[in-house]
Amino acid sequence: LVRRMREFGTTVFATMTKLAVETGSINLGQGFPDTDGPERMLQHAIEAVRGGLNQYPPGPGLPELRQAVAEHRKQWYGLAYDPDGEVLVTVGATEAISAAILALCEPGDEVVLFEPYYDSYAAAVALAGAVRRSVTLRVDAGRFTFDPAELEAAITPRTRVILVNSPHNPTGTVFTREELECVARVCQEHDLIAVTDEVYEHLAFDGVEHIPLATLPGMRERTVMISSAGKTFSVTGWKTGWVCAPAPLTAAVQTVKQFLTFTANAPWQVAVAYALREEMEWVAAQRAALQAKRDRLMTGLTEAGFDVLRPAGTYFVQTDIRPLGFEDGLELARRLPELAGVVAIPTQVFYDHPERGRHYLRFAFCKRDEVIDEAVTRLRRLG
Ligand code: PMP
Ligand code: GLN
Repeated sequence: LVRRMREFGTTVFATMTKLAVETGSINLGQGFPDTDGPERMLQHAIEAVRGGLNQYPPGPGLPELRQAVAEHRKQWYGLAYDPDGEVLVTVGATEAISAAILALCEPGDEVVLFEPYYDSYAAAVALAGAVRRSVTLRVDAGRFTFDPAELEAAITPRTRVILVNSPHNPTGTVFTREELECVARVCQEHDLIAVTDEVYEHLAFDGVEHIPLATLPGMRERTVMISSAGKTFSVTGWKTGWVCAPAPLTAAVQTVKQFLTFTANAPWQVAVAYALREEMEWVAAQRAALQAKRDRLMTGLTEAGFDVLRPAGTYFVQTDIRPLGFEDGLELARRLPELAGVVAIPTQVFYDHPERGRHYLRFAFCKRDEVIDEAVTRLRRLG
């Protein structure tokens, strides 16, 4: 394995899901729902396969999905993207993120990330031979946020990209307009490109608004906006995502994307185009259901003795393990199957400074109520 990839072994999600399977534990680690997305969307995928849509779709994606993505951006955020040239369909958000970093960063260029961060970011930066600089999200008044001075201090003459994920995995923070304005100001002052990971765009709770960075003044022209169907429609295995960006940026990402996968899977594209147009009511109901699941898991984890932080979005709750007498989340995550028959994710693996996340465990609540209840019953054994 090349040197620049050596720090990336097996992903924490694969490791922890394997541990759950091997030990018969309840898997509140890897974030994937245990129920299906909207029935008619599934039917569209089946019909696409049966109807013979089984050969390469066009490189940028099927026109009907690019059109549906553009309409969705317009309708939800007032953002206009030309489906021909400003929308690119990818194999999940993961490919979009890697292709964007590979397209925008020369070796040695720097990418600013907010830690803890989704694991593929650091690997994408390493693939490009670029260098990551992390700004730490710290808990203030019950939510993870950043210090604007720390963001400013992370910028150097080599900085090229700021990668922003909101709603944020793994903390559940949804960046406020003020926080986004700070990112926007730094991007504009230093002539940086923003790459935004908005895969949880429809999973913000309690009426909290998800604000795309591209909607802020002066930002559409310098933002590569990324999302995917996985979380919005509960189909994480479909790996269908998209990029929206000004034409030159989209073309740059597409140039790289062509040689990663050439195109994306045809049948899912038809089904996702349908869902973006016709299933947003299902998404609203799903959001309400997930908010209730969040509350259910938070209550249970609190009763089990954890200090629980309230996430404003995503699938995940952060807990502080110290009230239970534990110090190291990695060690507890390894022992949790034996102690309680549950799997969770040690948040410290998402940090460049693991000690800053040492006492957190991340639990996923995108599960059936009975699964959450059983996990909580088992976790009470820890107390
Ligand atoms: N970004 C974040 C923040 C995620 O949590 C995930 C995991 N679903 C992804 C990207 C990957 O999305 P996809 O499955 O569409 O590649
Ligand atoms: N996004 C999901 C999580 O954070 C899982 C992603 C993966 O398995 N790579 O749990």
